[in-house]
Amino acid sequence: MAIDPNFAESRERTPLAETDLDIDADYDVWGDVDEPDRLGIHGTHVAVDFDVCTGEGPCLENCPVDVFEWVDTPGHPASEEKAAPVNEAQCIDCMLCVDICPVDAIDVDGSR
Ligand code: SF4
Repeated sequence: MAIDPNFAESRERTPLAETDLDIDADYDVWGDVDEPDRLGIHGTHVAVDFDVCTGEGPCLENCPVDVFEWVDTPGHPASEEKAAPVNEAQCIDCMLCVDICPVDAIDVDGSR
């Protein structure tokens, strides 16, 4: 299952700080969060579906402007760490991460 590129229309937005997630960033989360099984889509301009991400990290290793950082997600069925778009404002829309994600967990949209 890939990320839904229409998530901004189909899901509710919640500031990360208002969720129970222990992640030090200030992006928004889209959709219901119910740890550890359901973590939602993280970020808006650079959006990572944590429920799809398998934690392999080519985005994190190859992003030219270091948008991503690892966060721990113990007990999540897909992987116990995720690439969080903590610096999404730095994104230069190169689309590398979208192209190389092995599970299509990332959507980047300059209009968001
Ligand atoms: S589109 Fe390019 S700059 Fe933006 S997060 Fe992905 S790899 Fe980084």
